[in-house]
Amino acid sequence: MNVIWFRKDLRIYDNPALTKAMEAGACKAVYISTPVQWKKHHVAPIQSDFIERHLNFLAEELASLGIILEHIEATDFNDQIRQLLDYCIKNNIENIYTNSEVEINEQQRDKNLQQAIYNKNISMHVFEADVIVSKGKVLNGDNAMYKVFTPFKNNWSNYLTQHGINLSAPPQVKDSEIKVTPARITLNTPKKCSRKWPLVSNVIDKVIPNFIENKHDEYKAYRDYPALKGTSGLSPYLAIGAISPKSLLFNILQKYPHILENPKADIFCWVNELAWRDFYKHLLFHFPQLCKHKNFQSKYDNLVWRNTPQHFNAWSQGKTGYPIVDAAMRQLITTGWMHNRLRMVVASFLTKHLLIDWRNGERFFMEHLIDGDYSANNGGWQWAASTGCDAQPYFRIFNPISQSEKFDPDGSFIKKYVPELKNVPVKHIHFPHKYLASISQTNLYPEPIVDHKTARLDALATYKACG
Ligand code: FAD
Repeated sequence: MNVIWFRKDLRIYDNPALTKAMEAGACKAVYISTPVQWKKHHVAPIQSDFIERHLNFLAEELASLGIILEHIEATDFNDQIRQLLDYCIKNNIENIYTNSEVEINEQQRDKNLQQAIYNKNISMHVFEADVIVSKGKVLNGDNAMYKVFTPFKNNWSNYLTQHGINLSAPPQVKDSEIKVTPARITLNTPKKCSRKWPLVSNVIDKVIPNFIENKHDEYKAYRDYPALKGTSGLSPYLAIGAISPKSLLFNILQKYPHILENPKADIFCWVNELAWRDFYKHLLFHFPQLCKHKNFQSKYDNLVWRNTPQHFNAWSQGKTGYPIVDAAMRQLITTGWMHNRLRMVVASFLTKHLLIDWRNGERFFMEHLIDGDYSANNGGWQWAASTGCDAQPYFRIFNPISQSEKFDPDGSFIKKYVPELKNVPVKHIHFPHKYLASISQTNLYPEPIVDHKTARLDALATYKACG
C-alpha cells in the first residue's frame, strides 16, 4: 500500500507525487495539520480558512478517484513524523509519496522522516511541484545560483525553450466501482473567512481563461494601478499549491507559443512575474539561511533600526497620515491581500521612512496575507529594505506622495479604504493635511507621523553608515 502525503500541493492536476503514487498501486492520502508549527510560522487565519476549504474540495476530488483523504492532527513537525510513522505501520504503508517544500524546517523534517523510516521497510519518494523550472537547474557559468534576476530569467527562459514543459499525467481512476464519501475536515487553527476568494475549481474554469483571453495583453499597462483589477489574483492559490505554476505557463504557451523567446517583449511581462516567483524559491534552495530571516547582504547586519513601537502601530493600523500607505495597510487588514505596487510602497515606508527592521513587516504580512509564502514574502521585504539579493539600491526611497499621484491618480483606491477622506478633492487626496486644516477638519485624519524629506535623509545616512 502507498500513501500520498499532501502538504502545499493541494491539487490533483499536475501533482507528480499523486500521479506516481497512483501509478505504483493502491493508494491512500493524508494531510497532517500542525497548529503549533503554524503558529510559529505566523500562518494567517485567512490562509488557514482557505486551506481548510481547499482540503475539503481536494477530498471530494480524491473521492472521485476512489481515494479517501484522511486528516491527522499533529502539534508540530516532530509530532508530524511520529503520527505519519504510526499511520504507515497501522496501514501497512510501504511507500510515502510527497512533493518537497523548500523552507529549512520543512527540509529538516523530511530528513528526520527519512531517518525515522530507515530499516522499517518504508521508502519515501519526493517530487517537486512548487516551481516551473526545477531548483538547481538555472545556474550561472560557475555553476552557482544567480545573484541578479535578469540573467536568471534569461537562462530560465532558455531552459524552458529547450526542455519544454512537462506536466504530470492526470491521475486515472483504476476502479470506477469504488465509492468513497469524504468526511468533513476541520482544522484546529484560528480562522478568518476567506469566501471572497472562490474555490480553485471556479478559478480554473473561469478566472484563468478570462485572464489569459482578456487581461493578459493589458497586464503591463494596468498591473501597477491598485484601483484596477489589472493582475491575475492567483497568488493565494499558488501559495497553497491549489494551482500548478507550470500549468499556468503551459496555458499561456497555448496562446503565445513563442513568448519565451523574447523576455524583453511587453507580452512577457506576466511570465516575468512567474519567473520572479521561481527566482525566490531557487534562492531559498541555494541559500537556506534566508529561512532564518538573515539579511542576504550581511553588511546590513549592523544597520541601526529605530524600531519605534508607536510608528509600527501606526503603520500596521493604517494611521500613518500618508493616505496611500494607510489605504494599502487597511486593504491588507480587511481583505487579507494587498496589491503588489502597494506592498512595495508600504515595505519601503516601514523600512526607510520609519527605520523599522524589515523582519517586523515580514511577520506582519505573514500574519495577515491569504497568499503568505515564505520565499516571495522574504524576497519582497528584503528587496524593499535593500538588504536582499538583487534588491532595490538603498538610496531609492519611494516617495509615498508621488507614488500615490502616479498609481492612484484620481484617489479612488484611497477613498475606498480610507473613507474619512471621501470628500477630499482629488488635487489634495494624496496629502490632504493643508486642505483639512483649511476646512477646520484636522481631526478627520492623522497628521503624518514623519516628514518625508527628513525621513529620507535619515534613511540615507543610516544605510550609508553600513558601507
Ligand atoms: P500577478 O501580478 O498576476 O502575478 C502572477 C503571479 O506571479 C503571482 O500570483 C505570484 O505568484 C507571482 N508574483 C508576482 N509578483 C511577484 C513578486 N514580486 N515576487 C514573487 N512572486 C511574484 N507574493 C506572494 O505570493 N506571497 C507573499 O507572501 C508575498 N509577499 C510580498 C511582500 C512584499 C514586501 C512584496 C513587495 C511582494 C510580495 N509578494 C508576495 C509578491 C507580489 O506582491 C504578489 O505575488 C502579487 O501581488 C500577487 O498578486 P497577483 O496574483 O494578482 O499577481
